[in-house]
Amino acid sequence: MTDVNLDQTADWKRNDHRHYMHPFTDHKELGEKGGTRVITRAEGVYIYDSEGQQILDGMAGLWCVNLGYGRQELVDAAARQMQELPYYNSFFQCTHPPAIELSQLLSDLSPGQFNHVFFTGSGSEANDTQIRLIRRYWDLKGQPDRMTIIARKNAYHGSTLGGASLGGMSAMHEQMVMPVPGIEHIEQPYPFELGADLSPEEFGLQQARLLEKKIQEIGAEKVAAFIGEPVQGAGGVIIPPDSYWPEIQRICDEYGILLVADEVITAFGRLGEWFGSTHYGIRPDLISFAKGVTSGYLPLGGSLVGDRVADVVIASGGEFAHGYTYSGHPAACAVALENLRILQREKIVEKVKERTAPYFNERWAGLGDHPLVGEARSLGLVGAIEIVRDKDSRERFHKDQGAGPRCRDFCISNGLVMRAVGDTMIVSPPLIFGKEHIDELVEKAWKCLDLTQQSLESAP
Ligand SMILES: *Cc1c(COP(=O)(O)O)cnc(C)c1O
Repeated sequence: MTDVNLDQTADWKRNDHRHYMHPFTDHKELGEKGGTRVITRAEGVYIYDSEGQQILDGMAGLWCVNLGYGRQELVDAAARQMQELPYYNSFFQCTHPPAIELSQLLSDLSPGQFNHVFFTGSGSEANDTQIRLIRRYWDLKGQPDRMTIIARKNAYHGSTLGGASLGGMSAMHEQMVMPVPGIEHIEQPYPFELGADLSPEEFGLQQARLLEKKIQEIGAEKVAAFIGEPVQGAGGVIIPPDSYWPEIQRICDEYGILLVADEVITAFGRLGEWFGSTHYGIRPDLISFAKGVTSGYLPLGGSLVGDRVADVVIASGGEFAHGYTYSGHPAACAVALENLRILQREKIVEKVKERTAPYFNERWAGLGDHPLVGEARSLGLVGAIEIVRDKDSRERFHKDQGAGPRCRDFCISNGLVMRAVGDTMIVSPPLIFGKEHIDELVEKAWKCLDLTQQSLESAP
């Protein structure tokens, strides 16, 4: 049995290397390092590889498997829908129950100004849709010169041309012909990297006012919108000071520009509220969602369209010339409906806020005592630790030493998924994490920080 599995694993790895081009992967380096880990099944908060190792999933897949693995109701919802109506489009005056019911439920769950939903297949497509909606809105308002969307450096808004252009990832921009025209970036609110000399309050205001400066530089009559993730995810779980978002809201209001919250990670309970915007008390005009809406069981994303935009784009008449073959895919919508109903029925968002997150935040903060850790921060159920050479000066290890990737590799071989963004280690566990899982996560993280420290000392 064991031998068969090992043969099979070797086969898979060989063919993976030969044929499967992975997202965001250096294949040459991967081949040299012995290839991929084959994940074959998962249950609850654990994934299992083809060699039988059990691994605690500290990232909920990729920020999405919020209900954990193996939820039969989600499987049944997909199977039922696939038998009844696996696919139909809603382009040509047709519709179907799952998309109707899901748009109704999303309107109920989201802040009051949201009563319409445009469905996509992913978060990237959701943000591309936002670009289209923003432009359409200002066109119909008779202000077509309002073309520029302001976003932030080190933001992640997806990997399509539109999403990656909104995003502020320099490594991605370097490989594109260009960020598409009409998108400008301001500096991010990253206290650990950029805010050492100021109080959090002052730093938050200072970074928010970069938006105002940028608007004045471009000319308010040319600015269409601002987009941001309430908490930057892929950039390294960057949690802005509390003063940041209210000031952004003030500036958007003052200059009349649309506010877009990319809630692909923060929606549906991640920060202990149904929407991250609620946590920060902002009133976005558009919200992007994806990931957690189906707990990742099927791909689905979309734009929540606030009344300010809907009242113009819908009420003005004329076709909004935009849509995807899989907009409102019935099976994906059926899974999302069931997923959201489970979150409601089991009061998971409330549990995150009242119990899981406070315990996680307290235990996570304890990692700040480790000699390698310059900061341990968390909010709701996302967390980050900054690996540093020197705690006081926040001096980093040299990039070539790969402290973060080392730590990540120790984690996975010790049964924990914790992601490395440079030397920032991040987690985003399933919302169903119990106390025992948080204990296991923190204990394994500490042990792997020890191993990382030893390895940096013995082979810098
Ligand atoms: C993941 C992510 C996206 C992109 O979603 P995809 O489904 O991968 O296209 C966009 N925005 C944020 C904030 C994300 O985390």
